[in-house]
Amino acid sequence: MDILVINAGSSSLKYQLIDMKKDVVLAKGLCDRIGLAGAIVKQSTHDGRETVRTASMMRHSDAIAELVKELTGEACGVIASMDEISAVGHRVVHGGEKFFKSVIIDEEVMKILEECAELAPIHNPPNITGIRACQEIMPGTKQVAVFDTAFHQTMPNYVCMYALPYEYYLKYKMRKYGFHGTSHKYVAERAAMFLGKPLETLKMVTCHLGNGSSLAAINGGKVLDTSMGFTPLDGLAMGTRCGTIDPAVVTFLMRKEGIDTEQMDAIMNKQSGMLGISGVSSDFRDLEVALNAGNERAKLALSIFNYQVCKFIGAYAAAMNGLDAVIFTAGIGENNPFVRYESTKGLDFMGVAVDPVKNALRGGERDISTDGARVRTLVIPTNEELAIARETRKLLD
Ligand code: AMP
Repeated sequence: MDILVINAGSSSLKYQLIDMKKDVVLAKGLCDRIGLAGAIVKQSTHDGRETVRTASMMRHSDAIAELVKELTGEACGVIASMDEISAVGHRVVHGGEKFFKSVIIDEEVMKILEECAELAPIHNPPNITGIRACQEIMPGTKQVAVFDTAFHQTMPNYVCMYALPYEYYLKYKMRKYGFHGTSHKYVAERAAMFLGKPLETLKMVTCHLGNGSSLAAINGGKVLDTSMGFTPLDGLAMGTRCGTIDPAVVTFLMRKEGIDTEQMDAIMNKQSGMLGISGVSSDFRDLEVALNAGNERAKLALSIFNYQVCKFIGAYAAAMNGLDAVIFTAGIGENNPFVRYESTKGLDFMGVAVDPVKNALRGGERDISTDGARVRTLVIPTNEELAIARETRKLLD
């Protein structure tokens, strides 16, 4: 059984074709610069073949047509025809309050997705476009939506409600939703397997630290709290996002600088975070180079990030009344020993202790805690595409 996983952005479309029987990624690819001049298609296959070529892709359906060529082409293909694909799993960022698990897509679901688009205006419209494009090119194939928000739907109302006039919740469904749910769920399940304990018995904080970063408090397999909110802007300071700030800063800056809502959105989403503080880069590799060269602002940016990760882990341990494991994942969580060490070194009072030698080693799923540490600190590589493919297969079954 082969499942195609699609992650459609505004001008790009990433895909993976996964053989679910063998758990093998047959091909992964990217259609980039959709709607722009110089659009490109890249694909690599499980047996080492690589394609990079330009293509005219004015719409997402053009990108799907190119993907079909890649997957079935004589030189670069991995399947004889698209009929071999059992289903398509789509990453959908926002499922609003309607979707607390993945769903097979029909017209009713599409209608609700269109309604949710208002909640995630940057992410959901391209996700919907990707689904429509697949429906157009592969009309007989089942399409499944897997939501970034779904895993967080277990948050109690006292956690996810904002203390704004209640009417805004009623009018706009304004509340905390949380994101990266597919990743938090995947690594929490893998961590329980790694520890050899039932997920239902564990209190965990999962730290998805990448360009976008969020933490989740997972008590007995259910999310109690997570750091992102109504949008992915909330919580930790990130690559280019400011994370949590005093809300009054927004209106103050808009008045003082004479800027409109779009400009303010751009400042908070694209010019803040590590980039905004350091003036160097949003990429943690660049920040570490700058830190080692004595750049004080890069040092400050990294200190802000590490402090916030530490603070959230502590807060979530308190919220769950205990902690069994801290899980690091995503680009920074998996690859950056400096952040893992610095963000946890102040938590030894509650049993978190990272072993510097184990922390420096690279590898797959691993325990980086000191031998006697009461709380296990793990690195678990995330695999959102595989998680989406598994969700999709579950629905077909
Ligand atoms: P993501 O959004 O999960 O791709 O993560 C992007 C962040 O992860 C960037 O800030 C990178 O600095 C960091 N990152 C990704 N891969 C590596 C790596 N191999 N070594 C160090 N940092 C990495």
